Amino acid sequence: MSNKKRTGFMNFVDDWLSKYPGGRGAIAKDAAIAKCGKIWTKMSAEEREPYVCQAKAASKVQVEKCEMHRHIDRIICGAKNALDLQQQEYNIVAFNYFANTGSVYVPAEYATCRYSLKEGISAVYSTLIDPGQLIFGQSHQARQHSRETHKLPLPPSALGTKMGKLYKKFIDGFPEVCEGDPIIMYTPTDQIPMVKACFAYLECEADDNEAITKSILIYDIQYLLYALKKAAFGITGKPNININLHGTSTYFQQDRFEYTAGIACEYHEEIDCTSYCAKSMVKRWCYIFSDFICEDLDIRLKPGKHIPAVTKPNYHITPGEPEKPLGNDESNDWEYDPPQDRSNLSDVLEIDKLTIQ
Ligand SMILES: [Zn+2]
Repeated sequence: MSNKKRTGFMNFVDDWLSKYPGGRGAIAKDAAIAKCGKIWTKMSAEEREPYVCQAKAASKVQVEKCEMHRHIDRIICGAKNALDLQQQEYNIVAFNYFANTGSVYVPAEYATCRYSLKEGISAVYSTLIDPGQLIFGQSHQARQHSRETHKLPLPPSALGTKMGKLYKKFIDGFPEVCEGDPIIMYTPTDQIPMVKACFAYLECEADDNEAITKSILIYDIQYLLYALKKAAFGITGKPNININLHGTSTYFQQDRFEYTAGIACEYHEEIDCTSYCAKSMVKRWCYIFSDFICEDLDIRLKPGKHIPAVTKPNYHITPGEPEKPLGNDESNDWEYDPPQDRSNLSDVLEIDKLTIQ
């Protein structure tokens, strides 16, 4: 029996056991499989279909996950030495949403930042999103979700930018991607489906005549943390055999910078709800990377870039300027950490390159 068929059958066994009088413990697994086997052979294709489909979907998700892990490994393996590894840049992304109906999510807030181990956070962009309206019947769920998390006012009172041009604006924020190459953005494991769905929603709502040629890949930031930690140990000759995804993910999920003040958007700072702010999320995820890996590569932590501008005294830090927005032009709401040395032209050029028009 092939794996796929067996998985479909095992889904049926699971379902059958969940309905078994006395519960799962009331029958041995071998006996359950034998009984289910007899029932399964008499079932029609239509009756088997939900179990087989479930197995196929799970197998597709698994394949996609393996491909993503291999791609992240390849990206990191491309860094042949410690300096390459330090300079590699990553896009980090977070969304808040108003409501979801299964696979559809209505976005409420978006934030992204550029990060490298060497420079920390080099640019941040965030915006509240006004989706115009909610799908009929979503108001109750949206109100409850907002109350429990981000506390953003619901449409038609939603704050922020109308959606029509946002998708193109987000995509054009990453001009360095070669023609045909996808933009890779990282977000936590459990948020990947939501982030993909929010982008899909924005893409659907994008103005028709906007030509968008770049595609987006949403990857697992927790796997990135694991792979980078392992690579940092490998490159510096430390034994990395005991580093595992479970351990590094547990570290990530501790979210040790969750209550950092002054890193959220204006709205969330004002209502004192910073923990759920998308802008705060992307920044503190970067801080976790710095906190977890920079020491292995002898990178000095710069406050406001690698770690919060105001931080605990036990860090080894390089004094630098606190983070400030570069300008108040409304059409360009990326924020950049000012370069430590303004005479460094390449830093300034990098800022120009990232500017959204
Ligand atoms: Zn916010």
